[in-house]
Amino acid sequence: MLDVVIIGAGPIGLACGIEAQKAGLSYVILEKGCLVNSLYNYPANMTFFSTSERLEIGGVPFTSLQSKPNRAEALEYYRRVTMHFQLQVRLFEAVQQVQPLHKGFEVTSTKATYTCKHLILATGFYDIPVRMNVPGEDLPKVTHYYKDPHYYAFQNVLVVGANNSAVDAALETYRKAAHVTMVLKHDDIGERVKYWVRPDVVNRIAEGSIKAYTNATVAAIREQEVDIQTPEGLVTIPNDFVIAMTGYQPNFDLLKQLGIGLSDDNKMHPQYNPDTMETNVPGIYLAGVVCGGLDTHVWFIENSREHAVLIMQQIAAKV
Ligand SMILES: Cc1cc2nc3c(=O)[nH]c(=O)nc-3n(C[C@H](O)[C@H](O)[C@H](O)COP(=O)(O)OP(=O)(O)OC[C@H]3O[C@@H](n4cnc5c(N)ncnc54)[C@H](O)[C@@H]3O)c2cc1C
Repeated sequence: MLDVVIIGAGPIGLACGIEAQKAGLSYVILEKGCLVNSLYNYPANMTFFSTSERLEIGGVPFTSLQSKPNRAEALEYYRRVTMHFQLQVRLFEAVQQVQPLHKGFEVTSTKATYTCKHLILATGFYDIPVRMNVPGEDLPKVTHYYKDPHYYAFQNVLVVGANNSAVDAALETYRKAAHVTMVLKHDDIGERVKYWVRPDVVNRIAEGSIKAYTNATVAAIREQEVDIQTPEGLVTIPNDFVIAMTGYQPNFDLLKQLGIGLSDDNKMHPQYNPDTMETNVPGIYLAGVVCGGLDTHVWFIENSREHAVLIMQQIAAKV
């Protein structure tokens, strides 16, 4: 019987492991992919909006040559932190089922079964894209995970979305000679776009280097063209690839299976006590971006690192 099982080896799951270790608790971190799997799957050239010290966990300094670190530096950092603390991480081991016991939980993964007194869900939101629900969305030329711009050189690329991921994809592919069109749901590029990037995309749109349809949505995707619903009517343009940066959402099925309440407005906020991070199911805690429901911009590494400390104070006191 472990004191705690942590699901997810993202930055916040790792932070929970560090705090568990510091408190002398027995624990294991189960991760369905590689270490910091979400970060690994981020765009290859991605630069964080946070400065490196705000991404630190366990008090280990994160040095970066630039003011904002990039993905490669972050992968290196979190791997070194894992090695430094010799964290009990089991990789490529997805949690499939959690059963309540008389006192605690039985956690079944793809490789083993564990019993624990407490469970922490640090499962993030990056696994499940928000779909456009349009015909053709499942064609191989459509992706919800943009990786690298070279692939799109000389191609007609449609980028859907107006926030950081969409803007990065649009600018990078444009600079590798793709013919880029953006579809923006509202009338402008998002306000939360990194302040040093926003003028770049606004100017590219203004000069016509990147074509943008505002107050528009994708209506249908076919092999060689896409339909865009604009205020002026339906527009059809040639298209080779669609990069749908329409956001991601937490695994609500898992939360429901565990009995965690979700708000019945359209935000689906999970029910938990912000002072302890314990959910309405005693013994189950939430940590990291999973806490935000569909408000995925509310929690990020910077401000959810502290969840690990809050949770472990509670668990250590109980144990
Ligand atoms: C492009 C991009 C840029 C960002 N830039 C910043 C930034 O500059 N600063 C910042 O603070 N935040 C940033 N964020 C947000 C940040 O990445 C997230 O806040 C961070 O990853 C959250 O950490 P987490 O540990 O809560 O979740 P994640 O990092 O998503 O980790 C969750 C882990 O759980 C695993 N998992 C899920 N289900 C299971 C299961 N059933 N069994 C086992 N494992 C499971 C996943 O594989 C994943 O590794 C950015 C996000 C994106 C998409």
